[in-house]
This record gives sequence, C-alpha cells and structure tokens, in this order.
Amino acid sequence: MNLENYIESLPTKRKLSGAKHTILTLLWSSSAEFPRRWVRSSELLNATGQKYFDRRARELRDEIGCDLESKYVEEFKEHAWRLNSNKLLKANPREYLTSADKKRLFEKHNFVCATCGKKIDAGVRGLQADHKIPLSRSGSHKLSNWQPICNNCNVGKRRACEGCNDECISCSWAFPEEVGINTVVNLPPEILSKLNKMSGGSQKELNELIKRAIQEAIGNS
Ligand SMILES: [Zn+2]
Ligand SMILES: [Zn+2]
Repeated sequence: MNLENYIESLPTKRKLSGAKHTILTLLWSSSAEFPRRWVRSSELLNATGQKYFDRRARELRDEIGCDLESKYVEEFKEHAWRLNSNKLLKANPREYLTSADKKRLFEKHNFVCATCGKKIDAGVRGLQADHKIPLSRSGSHKLSNWQPICNNCNVGKRRACEGCNDECISCSWAFPEEVGINTVVNLPPEILSKLNKMSGGSQKELNELIKRAIQEAIGNS
C-alpha cells in the first residue's frame, strides 16, 4: 500500500485538509517500515505552518481512526508523532455538548475548574468542557464523562494523557473528585533549575522527582 492508497482508504466524507495531508505525508515517509519513525513536533509545525497542527493530528487519530501515536521523545527533547500502522482504529468522532448541556455542566460546578479549583469564565482561554476519560482511551460522550476544566489544565491534561497507560480511574486529571485536584506549586528558580537538570528535561521524570521528594517529606503513613 502506498500513501495515496492509504489516504484513499480513509473513511472521510470530504477531501483531507491540506494540514492533515501534510501531516500524514510526513509521518508516512519518515521510514519504510511500521511503526514509522518519530517525527518531531517542530518539523510538523514547520511543514504545516499551523500552530494547531497537533489538533489536526489528534483529529486524524480520534475522528478518522489513523493509527497515530504521540509522546515526548527524550532524544528530541520534544513531543513527536508517528504512524504505527496503516490499519484503521475505531474512530470516535468528536461530538460537542449542546450549548445548553455545557451551560448546565458549568453551572453545576459554579464555573470552577474540576482539576485545579480555579473559578473562571467560559471560553477558549477559560473554562472548557472536557472528556474525563479521553476519547483516545475510549471515553464516552455520555454526560457523566464531562467535566469543566480551565484551558491551562486542558493543555496539561493532554500532555499527561499522551502515551499514558495508567488506569484513568486513579488519575487526578480524569477523576479529580475521587483522587484529589492537581496542585500547582511555585518553586524558587534555584530549586527548579536543579530539578530540571536532574530530570534531563523530561516532564515525567520531573513529576517522579517531585513525588518522591514529597513522599519522603511526609512519610508513607
Ligand atoms: Zn484548571
Ligand atoms: Zn490519565
């Protein structure tokens, strides 16, 4: 199968957008075998010229069913995407809440972000409706799977979910009401730069370091 056949095989109603086409072309051509090689986010950004290229990539994965994966790649020191196979995964087309449902959801939570507790107006930079269990982890569109979260948390959650195989049920991004809300800690720059050095720039390692330090401080009781 070549790229052209692959693109023709995709269950899309309309022709792929230019950005999606560019993304698939890059990912397809990065190597000859599946899984294809990782392609840096910066490369995809340059090629598409789209600030929101990652949204387009997620649409390819979640709405069309392309077998795409993304994660932070240590070697690149940035996020990257790859095409794992030419198979089609079960697409889970994004459906949006009706504005009435969204309003009800926000009001029920008093316009407070479910994951950080900040009170904030609705909007693209503000409070948004979020799937507690992400679509990429087979989350449903049922009302019970929605929560209001602020834009910052939404960005953080997306990063945290990439490549995560932990159970969503014990994840504070998905079930903050059970697990506890995320806490933002402002660390002095000297501690932060030390931590950054120790973690080698890896967000995951940084989280582990901080978790271990807190655990040591409060004990395991
Ligand atoms: Zn928040
Ligand atoms: Zn999670």
